[in-house]
Amino acid sequence: MRIVMLGAPGSGKGTQGDLLARHYGIPKSSTGDALRAAVKAGTPLGLKAKAAMDAGQLVADELVIGIIRERLQAPDARDGFIVDGFPRNVAQAEVLDSLLAGLGQPPITHVVHLAVDEAEIVRRLLARGVAEGRSDDNEATVQNRIAVYRAETQPLLDYYAGRGLVRTIAGVGDVAAIQARIVATLAVAETPVAA
Ligand code: AMP
Repeated sequence: MRIVMLGAPGSGKGTQGDLLARHYGIPKSSTGDALRAAVKAGTPLGLKAKAAMDAGQLVADELVIGIIRERLQAPDARDGFIVDGFPRNVAQAEVLDSLLAGLGQPPITHVVHLAVDEAEIVRRLLARGVAEGRSDDNEATVQNRIAVYRAETQPLLDYYAGRGLVRTIAGVGDVAAIQARIVATLAVAETPVAA
């Protein structure tokens, strides 16, 4: 399985992506986690990414494409993977398609779209900012990130819907119950239709 996690910031992509990775025994790669680690370590990548991240804007495509290219080339990603936080715009989705083709890998098989309403998103992000000290989970930045999601990332739903890949799951309620919904939905999606 080659899964893209899609949803607004705070929709649970990271949490559910981790659980799916364990369930299917495939690696998960998060560009947000990789960028935060780079910022913390003060690497050249981190230095270039920090200002955009703090402002709630997307970092330049080439920075995240490098992260994903490297990750998909690793041997453990050959038989499947989950990407969380990438792609964030149509240009990145096109690059992901061509990276896979270039590596001789099959294309994306599923897009898991976690649907959560905006009031709940804002509530979760502000709570996470307090609990985890994530510097981009503050009130001003949160509004930017939601606006960026709407303008840049939501169009990916159409991009992937055209290929019949999108599975929209209600991302509210108990974490385990959401996970069970995703797994059940993907199992149905994988069942071959009898001729
Ligand atoms: P996330 O943890 O996925 O919410 O990402 C945190 C921040 O990292 C985002 O607000 C962006 O500034 C940056 N970021 C993460 N992934 C990407 C991506 N695929 N393209 C551009 N910026 C990204």
